[in-house]
Amino acid sequence: MILAEFDYVRPVGLEEALTLLSGTRGSRVLAGGQSLLPGLRTGEDTARLLVDVRHLEELRGIDRTADGIRIGALTTLAELADHPVVLAEAPEVAAAARANGDPQVRNLGTAGGNLAAAGRATDLPVAAIAADAEVELAGPGGRWTVPAEEFAVSGAPAAAVVTALLVPAAGRAAAFEKTADRATRYPVCATAVRITPGGPRIAVTGATAHPLRLRGVEERLRGGPYTTEAVLAAFRAEPRELFVPGRGTSAEYLGHLAGVLAARALQRADQALA
Ligand SMILES: Cc1cc2nc3c(=O)[nH]c(=O)nc-3n(C[C@H](O)[C@H](O)[C@H](O)COP(=O)(O)OP(=O)(O)OC[C@H]3O[C@@H](n4cnc5c(N)ncnc54)[C@H](O)[C@@H]3O)c2cc1C
Repeated sequence: MILAEFDYVRPVGLEEALTLLSGTRGSRVLAGGQSLLPGLRTGEDTARLLVDVRHLEELRGIDRTADGIRIGALTTLAELADHPVVLAEAPEVAAAARANGDPQVRNLGTAGGNLAAAGRATDLPVAAIAADAEVELAGPGGRWTVPAEEFAVSGAPAAAVVTALLVPAAGRAAAFEKTADRATRYPVCATAVRITPGGPRIAVTGATAHPLRLRGVEERLRGGPYTTEAVLAAFRAEPRELFVPGRGTSAEYLGHLAGVLAARALQRADQALA
C-alpha cells in the first residue's frame, strides 16, 4: 500500500522533540519504525508529523542503578537480548527481547517502541510487569515514572516520550516463555516470571485482553512447589473470563497454554535459585 502523506522532523534534542509533539496534533514518535511504518502503510496507524528520535543520545545506554538497571528507550532489542548486565540481572527481559520477531526487527526495533506499540500483544511489556519495572517518561511538564503494569493499559500520552525502562535486579531467578505465531512471530501467549522473597510474580500476554499480572495464581503458588500440576491447577482456579479467545484459539486453550508456559518458566527460575 502507498503511505499517506505526513511531515517528518529530526529534532536536535529531547526538549525540541517534546515541543514538536505537544505543538502538532497527530504527531508521532518514530524510533525503529518496526511497528509504526508497517502500520502507516496498511492504514492501521495515522500520523501528520513523524518526530524522529533515533539519534537522541539522551535516550541511549544501559546503566546499573542503585537497585537495578536503567535501559534507555533507544536500546535495540538485539542489544537488550545480549547485554551481559541484563542477562545477569533481568534474564526475563533479555529473553523477551530475544523472542521478538527476526534479526532485522531486533536490530532496528527499540525497547521504548516495543513498550509503547499499542494494539497488539508484544513481548517486552510482560517481562517488565513480572520484573516490577517502571517506565520513565518525559513530557512538557517534566519527567515521571509509571509502573509497567499500569503503562501496559494506559500507554504513552500523545505528547510524551518514553525515555527509559527501570528494572529492579533479580539475579537469575526469572524466566520468560513464549509460543509464537508462526507467521508473524508475535506471541500467541507469553509468560514471564520472577521468584522474589515475597513469592512468585507471574505475568501473561496474548491470552488476556492486555499484558497483566496474575495475582490470584501468585497467591496460590506462594511457597511452591512449582510442579506442572500445581501451576496448572492454580491457572484453572482463575476466573474463566480472564482469558480471551485469539485468532483461531479458544479462551480455554489459551488459559491452559498460559499455565504450561508459566510452569516451564517457574521451574527454570527455581532451578536458577538452587
Ligand atoms: C516482521 C515483524 C515481526 C515482529 N515480531 C514481533 C514479536 O515477535 N514480538 C513483538 O513483541 N513485536 C514484534 N514486532 C514488533 C516490533 O518488535 C516492535 O513493534 C518494535 O520493537 C517497536 O519498536 P520500534 O522502535 O520499531 O518502534 P516504532 O515502530 O518506531 O514505534 C512503535 C510505536 O511506539 C511509539 N514509540 C516508539 N518509541 C517511542 C518512545 N521512545 N516514546 C514514546 N512512543 C514511542 C511510536 O510512536 C509508535 O506508536 C514485529 C514487527 C515486525 C515488522
